[in-house]
Amino acid sequence: MSINKNKTLQIIVSLIAIAGIFYFTNDQKLKVLDSNFVLKHEKRIDDLISKMTLEEKVGQTCQITLDAVLQKDSNGKLIDPHTIDDVKLSEAIHKYKVGSILNVSNRTFTLDDWHVKIEKIDNCTNEDSNTIPIIYGIDAIHGANYIQNSTLFPQQIGLAATWDTSIARAMGEVTAYETRASGVTWNFSPVLDLGRQPIWSRFFETFGEDVYLSKTMGKKIVEGYQGNLPIDKYHVAACLKHYVGYSFPKTGRDRTPCLIPERTMEELYMPPFKESIDGGAMTVMINSGEINGIPGHANKYLITDLLKEKWGFAGFTVSDWEDFIKLHKVHKTDSTIKDAIATAINAGIDMSMVPNNPQYKKYIKNLLELVQEGKVSHERLNDAVRRILRVKLELGLLDERNFNKDDYTDFSSDKHHHLAYKSVAESITLLKNNNDILPLKQEQSVLLIGPAANDLNILNGAWTHTWQGIDKKYNNDHPTILDQLNISFGNVTYFEGSKLLMRNGDEVDVAADDLKNATDVAGNYDVAIVCLGEIPSTERAGDIYTLDLPNEQKNIIKELSKKDIPIVLILVEGRPKIIRDIEPLCDAVIQTYLPGDHGAEALIDILLGNINPSGKLPYTYPKYNGVIMNYDYKQSETINGNNWKNDFYEAQWDFGFGLSYTNFEYSNLSVDKEVISSTDELIVSIDIENTGKFKGKEVIQLYLHDHYATISPPLKKLIRYCKIDLNPNEKRTVSFKLNKKDLEFFGVENCWIVEEGSFSLFIDSQEVDFIYKN
Ligand code: BGC
Repeated sequence: MSINKNKTLQIIVSLIAIAGIFYFTNDQKLKVLDSNFVLKHEKRIDDLISKMTLEEKVGQTCQITLDAVLQKDSNGKLIDPHTIDDVKLSEAIHKYKVGSILNVSNRTFTLDDWHVKIEKIDNCTNEDSNTIPIIYGIDAIHGANYIQNSTLFPQQIGLAATWDTSIARAMGEVTAYETRASGVTWNFSPVLDLGRQPIWSRFFETFGEDVYLSKTMGKKIVEGYQGNLPIDKYHVAACLKHYVGYSFPKTGRDRTPCLIPERTMEELYMPPFKESIDGGAMTVMINSGEINGIPGHANKYLITDLLKEKWGFAGFTVSDWEDFIKLHKVHKTDSTIKDAIATAINAGIDMSMVPNNPQYKKYIKNLLELVQEGKVSHERLNDAVRRILRVKLELGLLDERNFNKDDYTDFSSDKHHHLAYKSVAESITLLKNNNDILPLKQEQSVLLIGPAANDLNILNGAWTHTWQGIDKKYNNDHPTILDQLNISFGNVTYFEGSKLLMRNGDEVDVAADDLKNATDVAGNYDVAIVCLGEIPSTERAGDIYTLDLPNEQKNIIKELSKKDIPIVLILVEGRPKIIRDIEPLCDAVIQTYLPGDHGAEALIDILLGNINPSGKLPYTYPKYNGVIMNYDYKQSETINGNNWKNDFYEAQWDFGFGLSYTNFEYSNLSVDKEVISSTDELIVSIDIENTGKFKGKEVIQLYLHDHYATISPPLKKLIRYCKIDLNPNEKRTVSFKLNKKDLEFFGVENCWIVEEGSFSLFIDSQEVDFIYKN
């Protein structure tokens, strides 16, 4: 008996050990946490889960919007100032046991407002020691944009134009710090969708069209958000979105179907997500649209088989806005909302952004029934809860709260604003500068004109204080381009030129009465600065019919060009608008993207030459509405049916393009081996010299071309880049290390391979070849 007992004990001990090893080895794969932490957490989570009721588990998967617990009037309108309704909050937390709250409705709170709300939610949780605290999520996508007076950075497309990952990291750090200062611990950022469809309304939220640039910038911003594990009081959980393939709708309109072959998914759309998962990103938001007919929220292969099992993602996935419901109402893949909930949870989604009231109550009822009916297994529910608890534990949410608002004295500090200014200064991209018309001199008289010249909302874009970013109430604490020009130049006269109005949800451009006055006096000024742009918008509200810049805006340039005045065109745009007919009329063109609160200061410093521009386009600037090509096109895309030459590709400006006030000369591109094999490293070197008069920064971009492959290869693809600073006459040698992985493509057999043969490497106009042999 005792022997048996001992044996049983031994077996139990071995089983526990095996389970421990299982956790350990599994969690080696689970990139979120280091192994000791996992073991500590997993035991605590097991313990918690074993004590949780079914209702508590279901509640953890439910995310509601803050509106759902705010006071409303008898017509259902939110009462101002937005105030938590204690009864609704208590109902959500204690009766329905919801696990998460998100957002803020069409306004930006002060830090104090945030503290009051978060504290109220915490106090409500604390009323019952068994209640698991909520995780609060927010879209702090270019700084803590829902907190008044926070530090706002350029939108992601501008960050990408810096081609500097340390800037992405710094932006992440500051945003995390300022978000955390409000008490919020979870940020729905970054967007890792590729911007390869410029008409898409969320183009500006991406890092542009290239997979390598997006994956390297994305990884660093996540590092900035999360810091080192365990997460401290200055960092937040990142949320990679929108997994995966969301950004390439065939129609160009938001959340319409995408057709993306598996190879393209593997080569382009997945790697930025994979890179950040490997880097420890804690949460992932799912694609609202559909890929090849399968809605993102129903795609078990992508969510469970690939993300969780193959990639080893240990954090949790969250749906996008109302997307469980949309499987029934929009995608029509489920005949009831209840079926849709089963589909989404069984596909592997752990938390549902339901998020409205009373819909969330129905969600909870439905999911409870689904588990009781066996349509969602206990195992799946436990897995979802385990993942959510892991992140909550990692964030310290399940330990005693010791939030102290005095810990955040750097909120909106000069240090933070300087970093935001620097990000803009490094992103602004000089696209044309005929006869070195720029930099300007302070004594020059300026005629300033255009709808983007005196508008801070346009500089910031959407997700700024409100979702669409159009409320003027908050955008008055930083200079517009007009304000800053007035500070820096002695003689500035401003005209509107055209107006951007909103009618029935669309931008309507109207010529302003003062255009004639402007052209009448244009000859009296040294230079015209023309600022063109668009009304901020995102998601479906940002769907447009054409990429053409409206005629009313182009007319400003056309009319001024009849006068004797040089024209500097300033573009303030989240997506490239077609300017083929007005570009030749301009002497200089500057792309500012959506630079944020510090846009005007950095722009004027660039106009004056205080800053030498160093931004490079993170996308191909199209010349024609009907010819949307990305830089990594194939030879077949270049054949011109008029002359049968390979010259069809004609962009307004190329991906990676951007001028400087100085000149950089490249020479001696070389490789250290002419032939490499699978185990070799290849060192690529190039000399670069600043041969101009200004100190300046240059982005060195290394592209690869595989001459022949069984899957037709692109003519070039970016494989490395770096940004360096050079004084006049300074020369430096820069080297990059490559290996077999850099040569791989997703082959016919649906796996990554390299085929033997010749390859070329390009930097600027330099080229060098090498051979790969197995
Ligand atoms: C957007 C997400 C965002 C979420 C919460 C959705 O409509 O697609 O990017 O994170 O709302 O605001």
